[in-house]
Amino acid sequence: MTNIAFIGLGNMGGPMAKNLLAAGHTLQIFDLSQDALNDVASAGATVAGSAVEACKTADVVITMLPAGKHVRQVYTGDDGLLDHLSPGTLCLDASTIDSDTARDVGLAVAEQGIEFMDTPVSGGVAAAQAGTLAFMCGGTAAAFDRAKVILEAMGNGEKIFHAGPAGAGQVAKAANNMLLAVHMIGTCEALAMGAKAGLEPAVLSEIMKASSGNNWSLQVYNPWPDVMPGAPAGNDYQPGFMVDLMVKDLGLAKEVAGGTGVDNKLGQLALDIYQAHQAAGHGTLDFSSILKAIR
Ligand code: NAD
Repeated sequence: MTNIAFIGLGNMGGPMAKNLLAAGHTLQIFDLSQDALNDVASAGATVAGSAVEACKTADVVITMLPAGKHVRQVYTGDDGLLDHLSPGTLCLDASTIDSDTARDVGLAVAEQGIEFMDTPVSGGVAAAQAGTLAFMCGGTAAAFDRAKVILEAMGNGEKIFHAGPAGAGQVAKAANNMLLAVHMIGTCEALAMGAKAGLEPAVLSEIMKASSGNNWSLQVYNPWPDVMPGAPAGNDYQPGFMVDLMVKDLGLAKEVAGGTGVDNKLGQLALDIYQAHQAAGHGTLDFSSILKAIR
């Protein structure tokens, strides 16, 4: 049983925190939203008045915040955690943020004898609720060994990866979501083309799943309405994983590609296509709704 401070209890952080409680850990929680705090407190967590207060007695700190600026502010802003954490504390940031912020915050806390890992997740809200998230971790091997025991309460043990040094988890996340966007768009184009040429989308989906076009979007997330029970396409594209978040992640992938000099033409095109879809007012729909733009 570990004493954990959990900061950021939104769509993802809320269910993740509840899974930690269910596994027997003790949680002090903080969020700017009272509703989010009440929800996790009802599962047995103790509400703190600030992030610093939540971390006072914590051995492990977990943050699940919207973007890099929030993570910087919580750790290194005025009266941030950096000024208060004890040496030996393990900090896990599960937010999806830019790898530069992950490295900078990691370096700043390491100077004080505090271990930091970037541990972004894949799997979305359903996996957060089910405790089956995948984690991609960046940091030292020692930090990974300590983190894995905690992460297993929120994720599938076979999907908890040590990607490399600080920042590597965020690079892995950006690479994965860039590929996800590209094969979702490609899947929508293939289905739309087949349907316009007279094929049943369900039949074409089965053919491609059994052939070399098989991919995750076809296997578990079919974008064509009512081909796959439970997929967001059958529920008016309610998320799921929002277009707004996909645009954010493709922006992060663009930064990584820019920093490496890799010419990621398809990643850039995917960003353009999703940005146009967002500008057309579909930012809060599931990302598989890109089929609407293609049809
Ligand atoms: P969310 O907006 O639902 O939750 C973020 C929470 O952080 C909110 O409750 C907000 O009040 C809180 N917060 C913001 N600033 C704060 C601060 N300074 N102190 C304390 N609390 C603060 O977002 P989410 O969907 O839970 O996503 C969180 C992270 O996970 C994001 O980086 C996102 O990209 C990533 N992610 C989301 C999904 C998904 O499907 N939603 C999937 C994978 C990864």
